[in-house]
Amino acid sequence: MQILDGTLVAAHIKEQLKKEVEELKAKGGKTPHLAAILVGNNPASEAYVGHKVKTCAELGFESTLLRFDTSITEKALLEQVKKLNEDDGVDGILVQLPLPDHISPDLIINNINPDKDVDGFHPISQGKMMLGQPTFLPATPYGIMLMLEHYNIDVAGKHCVIIGRSNIVGTPMTILLSRNTNPGNATVTLCHSRTKNLEEITKTADVIVAAIGKPKFVTANMVREGAIVIDVGINRIDDPTRKSGSRLVGDVDFDNVAPLCSYITPVPKGVGPMTICGLMKNTLEAAKLPKHMYN
Ligand code: NAD
Repeated sequence: MQILDGTLVAAHIKEQLKKEVEELKAKGGKTPHLAAILVGNNPASEAYVGHKVKTCAELGFESTLLRFDTSITEKALLEQVKKLNEDDGVDGILVQLPLPDHISPDLIINNINPDKDVDGFHPISQGKMMLGQPTFLPATPYGIMLMLEHYNIDVAGKHCVIIGRSNIVGTPMTILLSRNTNPGNATVTLCHSRTKNLEEITKTADVIVAAIGKPKFVTANMVREGAIVIDVGINRIDDPTRKSGSRLVGDVDFDNVAPLCSYITPVPKGVGPMTICGLMKNTLEAAKLPKHMYN
């Protein structure tokens, strides 16, 4: 069994990105600039945005963090997005989800200039991805593809079972794994909350991608010997042995599943750091685009 070490792969990719930014700047190019919007003070969202801002600094990117109280109206948030769309200094816009209930995430995302949609959530980005056209790929699936590429894991012709059909992880994962690229060319099954006989399906999987949001949901009886398991889940569970009283676990029962696997991602230090790499790669690409394509 080999651990797919997200921290290690991310360090490698970040080194390349850092070099590329230095070269870009030396040639008089633009310093990539990511603007992040955070509404409220959800601790998980705070941590995710904090990591992204910190990584920008590490790579020589500029970043701006715009924080708003949960009382901000949908209209006012929309205005902020529009301002960032029009600001030629800003290359990438990230709106940290979830948003408060009175704000439609679809409306906000649909109003991001697709040229700055570095999270890859805009319908234009998602549509282009489906058609196999160059675009910003959603950061987490993009990060997973980068990880497979780094470890030279060939999924062509393999049966990949994705559990979870969200627009940001599960569904785009099915597209990326099945399209005619390398990595890609897999045979994909998408499972979700209404899937019957999940265990029978996952037992036939060469690759399982778990993106459910339920701690230790994928158990050893669901995994065949030699499978590759990618655990996207990030769940906080109580742990009285820790000073903080809690710890992070994935959607996979790691201790019992790992011995069966050929490769497995841990949580933390698996998919999480790769998601940030996906976002940073998109931001660098955005900085190279001519501005005002969609304005
Ligand atoms: P989501 O809540 O939008 O979707 C969960 C999916 O799980 C749904 O499609 C649902 O159909 C499916 N599901 C629920 N119960 C099920 C069941 N019993 N059997 C089969 N399928 C079931 O979740 P999401 O946004 O895709 O996130 C999933 C997990 O991944 C969460 O823990 C989230 O925190 C984590 N996440 C991690 C990263 C990262 O960078 N590592 C990025 C995004 C999300």
